[in-house]
Amino acid sequence: MSCAEPRLVLLGRQGAGKGTQSNRLADHFGVMHVSTGDMFRTQAAQGTAFGLEAKRYMDAGDLVPDEIVVGVIEESMVPGGPLGGGFVLDGFPRTLHQARELDRVIAGFPLHLVIDLDVPREIVFDRIAGRRVCENCQRVYHVNLPPTHNWACDTCSGRVRQRDDDTEEAVERRLELYERETVPIVEYYRERGLLTLVDGVGEGDEVFERLVKVCLEQFS
Ligand code: ADP
Ligand code: ZN
Repeated sequence: MSCAEPRLVLLGRQGAGKGTQSNRLADHFGVMHVSTGDMFRTQAAQGTAFGLEAKRYMDAGDLVPDEIVVGVIEESMVPGGPLGGGFVLDGFPRTLHQARELDRVIAGFPLHLVIDLDVPREIVFDRIAGRRVCENCQRVYHVNLPPTHNWACDTCSGRVRQRDDDTEEAVERRLELYERETVPIVEYYRERGLLTLVDGVGEGDEVFERLVKVCLEQFS
């Protein structure tokens, strides 16, 4: 691979498997996984003022306002961190404005690839209904594939539970916002020659292999 520190963005509907797959990709390529959703959940669990504010939007299925999200990205995208070392960005950008802001924030460290992880709407509903997440490390499970012991996370022993924003109404709202706010970004990246579509339907391992393959094709 000629690209030692890949800088990737993963787009995809809620429940497409972005969180799980971007974590695995980051591990695989030895770069940082940067997830705005995880950052907000961690802050909310710690009860910081900032986290609690973000949680109000999240639980309603709304987007957290751009100023807040862009601020968080600006703080984490530093040359000594993900900027210089490479990253898989998960959950950001989510609006056209955020995509433009990202270009500004990472100026000098352009993206190598944007992957649209494609899973049809009908399928993501089922996945989200069964989704369970570790409160502590955010590892994602499913009711059909729970942790080994009594809903304690296999990685960190944290409590594995349903996310507060995985209610039916909030999910409906997030999917609607995805079509309206996030789909236009796909076009933005396609015009820049950065976009690749990957089929997100199938077993996790199978999808992961597809993802690694498109990355290697792009980087070598
Ligand atoms: P999902 O993809 O299932 O919505 P995430 O963990 O990516 O899960 O995000 C959870 C919530 O965090 C979102 O519904 C939204 O409220 C907030 N959020 C995360 N990233 C962003 C973003 N880039 N812009 C606005 N809100 C965001
Ligand atoms: Zn955990």
